[in-house]
Amino acid sequence: MYEKVENILKMAKESNTSVIAFICMDYVMARSVVYAAEAANTPAIVMLYPEHVTVQHTTGFRKFAAMVKELANEVKVPIGLHADHDYTYNNIMTTINAGFESVMMDGSMNDLDKNIELTKQVVLKAHELGVCVEGEIGHVGLASDSDNHNEDLYTKADAAEKFCKETGVNSLAVSIGNAHGEYKETPHLDIARLEEIHAATDVPLVLHGGSGIPDDQLLTAFSKGINKFNLGTEFLGKYYSAVADFSKENADNKDPVKIINMPAYVQAKLQPYLEERMKTLCHF
Ligand SMILES: [Zn+2]
Repeated sequence: MYEKVENILKMAKESNTSVIAFICMDYVMARSVVYAAEAANTPAIVMLYPEHVTVQHTTGFRKFAAMVKELANEVKVPIGLHADHDYTYNNIMTTINAGFESVMMDGSMNDLDKNIELTKQVVLKAHELGVCVEGEIGHVGLASDSDNHNEDLYTKADAAEKFCKETGVNSLAVSIGNAHGEYKETPHLDIARLEEIHAATDVPLVLHGGSGIPDDQLLTAFSKGINKFNLGTEFLGKYYSAVADFSKENADNKDPVKIINMPAYVQAKLQPYLEERMKTLCHF
């Protein structure tokens, strides 16, 4: 069933675990997540990266939101809908008007005061509309630039405390040795720093750049305040492989209509992977 992200995060915090938010760019990915969540008997979040609409045109905001809510209502487990990184008030209002009740305002490339100012402006309007907001402090950079080693980008507990108090965000993305994309070598999360941030704040914390962090580190982080975990690169990679496998298996096929079997083929490959991730990592 469709459930507001705010409520799913509350459930995760109470259970001292994390929900996984999967980047989905189309129907096949969203449907795979929803049905894997049902099979794993755990809540999940379907997350849209706004650039997939504005740059790659894989879907539209309004149709994606409606599709996810409809899919969610086909199953019993709570399914949330969230819009990932956006950077301006106007863009976020477009997403909210399209039906998203959970958004991210990422002002982390600015200094603390500017980040607070921009995020607060979004939070005030969003809360008026019943929408929850994820902020980011410190900066989660790119694994390809080895940003996960750059401690200058890491979240500081005192800044996190000030940020939460002054903006009123509902959740907070932190930088503790994580980065977006594929890591060059095994990352090591700064758990001591996470504990400090967790002690200084009372909102659910969010871990971006989840692909490639070892499970034992993830489970430790989930027991110390991380209640939402974003998975993008790894899931997109599985999608890519499944499409490649379908093409390979049908290389000699002469019937163009056979492409209609591709979505179900891909979903059958994605679902076991998703189910395994949820069963291993989410303990509600
Ligand atoms: Zn991110």
